[in-house]
Amino acid sequence: AELESMKVDLSAFPSCQFFSVDAIVRPWRLPFVVSKLASSGIRGMTTQDVRGVGMQGGLRERYAGTEFSDTDLVSKAKINVVVARTQVELVSRIIAASAYTGEIGDGKIFIHPVADVIRIRTAETGAVAEHMEGGMEDMRASLEDK
Ligand code: ATP
Ligand code: GLN
Repeated sequence: AELESMKVDLSAFPSCQFFSVDAIVRPWRLPFVVSKLASSGIRGMTTQDVRGVGMQGGLRERYAGTEFSDTDLVSKAKINVVVARTQVELVSRIIAASAYTGEIGDGKIFIHPVADVIRIRTAETGAVAEHMEGGMEDMRASLEDK
């Protein structure tokens, strides 16, 4: 319920058309997150296996009284989705809802401005290069036609 009303503030970049939504999630949640994004029309995304430390490491540090060591890094999955400005909030909500367990270690989402997009094959740039045939925007447009 909190996720449905989650707001994303892009006001720091008032004229930026595209954003990169970078999420760090539990690795075993990745297939679910990807399938939720795909069924919502996200056609372009990149994932990576990463290792990180957050609250889990912080707690450990306090109990042990020592700095976290390399072994405190836990395996995570990173998902990168570049989308149009108008899609950032929806995409962030989809990721948050599908990655959520409520336990420490669910992860975080970082949103970065993207100045431009270039499709190498065609040399297209900007909105044309960012747009994906049959993607989220096309799905929305075809719903509005009906
Ligand atoms: P085309 O020439 O039609 O663009 P392509 O195979 O060269 O086809 P894509 O498949 O669209 O290019 O994308 C290549 C890779 O770029 C993908 O595998 C993915 O990792 C990454 N990618 C594409 N679009 C996005 C996006 N919007 N956000 C994040 N990563 C993307
Ligand atoms: N903004 C694109 C579209 O709706 C989708 C981008 C993506 O799939 N990452 O066409």
